[in-house]
Amino acid sequence: MDHDIDRILISRHRIAERVMELAAEIARTYAGDVEAGLTLVTILSGSLIFLSDLIRCLPLRMKIGLITVSSYKGTKPTPAAILQQLNTDVTGRHVLLVDDILDTGGTLRLVREQLVSAGPKSIRTCVLLRKPSKAPPDVPADFVGFDIEDVFVVGYGLDFNDHYRNLPDIAVLRPEVYAS
Ligand code: 5GP
Ligand code: MG
Repeated sequence: MDHDIDRILISRHRIAERVMELAAEIARTYAGDVEAGLTLVTILSGSLIFLSDLIRCLPLRMKIGLITVSSYKGTKPTPAAILQQLNTDVTGRHVLLVDDILDTGGTLRLVREQLVSAGPKSIRTCVLLRKPSKAPPDVPADFVGFDIEDVFVVGYGLDFNDHYRNLPDIAVLRPEVYAS
């Protein structure tokens, strides 16, 4: 797997530091207003590892919700589609949407629309990565780990054709891998 990597964009150490900082920001935001209940809704599969690290830094009472959305074929964006519906009721609850990366915004826009109809008390979004050159203004993120350049990245949960999710760092693959 290592020989497929062109360069590491964000190291595992930098990710770990930033996840702790994000968790502190999130904890400050919800502290004192958790009576309604907090649900972290995770967009699978890319956010799997991010969520598992984030929640272990978050000393808040919470539930986890899962929703599966597909949006990429290889390195090419396709219209976001829900593959598996949310498995929990968020009516009246605070919702924090957790996604791996905010790119064109199609995924978060779609999931937000679905959740609004359930009548949550609030909806905020947290993304590990954002490509600011593409992210549209109507899909804001409340918590952002890193702004990155417009390159296709893998690792730390992010895939290329369902591989490379288990790389501990966030990396760019060699061009030959994408071409094959
Ligand atoms: P959007 O719907 O905002 O265009 O894209 C969000 C989704 O597309 C992400 O949740 C992620 O699954 C996928 N995606 C966008 N950019 C990348 C990327 O650079 N690498 C990988 N592996 N997935 C990406
Ligand atoms: Mg995703």
